[in-house]
Amino acid sequence: MEYRWPRPGISPGRGFPFMASPLSIRVTNTLTGKKEPLETLVPGRLTLYSCGPTVYNLIHIGNLRAAMVADLFFRFFRRAGYAVTFVRNYTDVDDKIINRARQEGISSEDLARKYIVEVERDYAMSGCLEPTHKTTVTTHMPEIISMIEKIIANGHAYVVDGEVFFSVSSFPTYGRLSRKNIDELEVGARVELNERKRSGLDFSLWKPAKAGEPSWDSPWGKGRPGWHIECSAMASKWLGDRIDVHHGGEDLIFPHHENEIAQSECASGCNPFVKYWLHSAFLTLSKEKMSKSVGNVFLARDFLGQYGGEVARALLLSAHYRTILDFGEESIEQALTALQRIYEAKFKASELLKSRRAVPDLRAESLWGEFVQDCEKTRRALDEAMCNDFNTPEVFASLFQLIREFNRVSAEPLAAATPAATLGAQAFIGLLEQDLGEITGLGRLDASKALSDLSRIRASRAGSQITSEQVEKLLAERIEARKAKNFARADEIRKELDSQGVVIKDGPQGTTWEYR
Ligand code: AMP
Ligand code: ZN
Repeated sequence: MEYRWPRPGISPGRGFPFMASPLSIRVTNTLTGKKEPLETLVPGRLTLYSCGPTVYNLIHIGNLRAAMVADLFFRFFRRAGYAVTFVRNYTDVDDKIINRARQEGISSEDLARKYIVEVERDYAMSGCLEPTHKTTVTTHMPEIISMIEKIIANGHAYVVDGEVFFSVSSFPTYGRLSRKNIDELEVGARVELNERKRSGLDFSLWKPAKAGEPSWDSPWGKGRPGWHIECSAMASKWLGDRIDVHHGGEDLIFPHHENEIAQSECASGCNPFVKYWLHSAFLTLSKEKMSKSVGNVFLARDFLGQYGGEVARALLLSAHYRTILDFGEESIEQALTALQRIYEAKFKASELLKSRRAVPDLRAESLWGEFVQDCEKTRRALDEAMCNDFNTPEVFASLFQLIREFNRVSAEPLAAATPAATLGAQAFIGLLEQDLGEITGLGRLDASKALSDLSRIRASRAGSQITSEQVEKLLAERIEARKAKNFARADEIRKELDSQGVVIKDGPQGTTWEYR
C-alpha cells in the first residue's frame, strides 16, 4: 500500500475534495471479477449507493449484515480521504408491503412508515452511521416516471395496456454483471411467458393499478413502478448518471442489479452506470441462508436487545464481507471473547494512566518506546488491511497481535511505575478509539462499563444466578482472607464461585473473573 498523502487522519478529501485520495484502495468488482484499484470518477469524491430493505417487518441479522457492510465501506472511504455521498433506499411500495398492511388493517404507507422507524432503530443501535441521503420510492415518483419516459423515447421499452416493459433484447450487454447468457435466459424465461410481454425476459418498469392498491398518475395511466426502476431513478437523482460504487447483497446481482444497469444506461446513454459493483455474502444459520421465506430468522432487534450493538458489530465484521458468515453459538462466543480482550486491555491501559510514575527504569522505558512504535505500525496495518478489499479479519488479527504485545509489556516488573508507561497507554487507547473506532465502530466505549456489560451478557448466557456485584463482594472477601492467611476460606470462595459458573484468574495486576 502506498500513502500519497502524509498521513490519514488529516483527510484531504474532507477539507479539499478535489485532491487525490491518500490511500490506494483495492476492491473486488463483480463486473470484472477482479480486484482492482479504486479510481473514482472525480478525484477525491466518491458516490456510493446501497440497496436497502423492503420495509414490511423487522429486519433479521442477515439484513443487518448487509447494512453493516455498506456502513463499513462508508466509514473507510471517508477515512481514506474521500468526500463521500452515500445513498441508501427503502423499498416502501411492494406486494409484500401491501399484503402485510391488509393483514394489519392499516394502509401500506402507514405500514412502511412504521417499519422505516423500526429499521432505523436497529441501524442506530448497531452503530451504523447515517447515510448522506435516505430515500423512499413514494417520494421519487416524478423521477421514476421521467426515467421511464426516457427509456421509452430511446427505444428500450414498450407500453401494453397501461403496463411498461423493458425490452431486454434491445440491450445487448444484458447479463454481463451476472455472467448470464441472454439466449439461455430467453429459453428459461419462456416458461413464464406472459402474453403481454414480447419476451419472457422483459420486466416491468410500470404496472397498472389494481383495485385497493396504492397508485400514482402517469402518462400510461394509474399504476405503480416495478421494483428495479426505483434504484436507477434514485441513484441518478442523488448521485448522477454514473456512480462509483454500488453495493448490495449477492442475491441482488440477478435480476435486480442487472436490470438496474439496463435501465440506467438506456435512460442516460452513459456507461458504465456503475464503476465498481461490490456484493456482500450471506449470513447463514446452520449453513442455510437466513431468510424470511425459509423462516430461519433471528431478528436484529432480538439480538441487539440481548447482546447490544458492539457484539453485533464484532460478530458481523469478523468475517470478510465476501465470505459466508455462519451465525450461531460459535460466532457469538468468538465476538464476546474478542470484545473482552479489547476492553480488558483498554481497562488496563486506563488504569496505567491513573497510576503514579516515580521509578524510571531503562528496560521498561525501552519496552514502552518500542510499544509506541508498534501502535503506529498497527495503525498502518489496519489501513493496509482495509485497503485490501476491506479485509476485516486481517484488521482484527493485527489488533490482537498488538494487544498481546501490550499485555506482555504491561506485565513486566516496573512497567507500571515507569514514566514512559503513560505514552504507551495513550498510544494504545488512541489506536483503539481513533483508528479501530473509526474503521469498525468498536473500542470506543468506557472499558469498565463495556466489561460489566459483557459480564452481564455472559451471566445471562450461562443462566448464572449470581450477579456481578455478588461476585465482586466475594472476591473482596477472598483478598481479605488471603491477607489474613486464611487460605481455607479463600479456597472455599473460589469453589463457590466456580459452582456458580464464575472463573477467576489471579495475575500480576490482580484478580480478574468471567462467567464460564
Ligand atoms: P430484502 O429486504 O430481502 O430486500 O433485503 C435487504 C438487504 O439484505 C439486501 O441487500 C439483501 O441482499 C440482504 N440480505 C437478505 N438476506 C440476507 C442474508 N441472509 N445475509 C446477508 N444479506 C442478506
Ligand atoms: Zn436496488
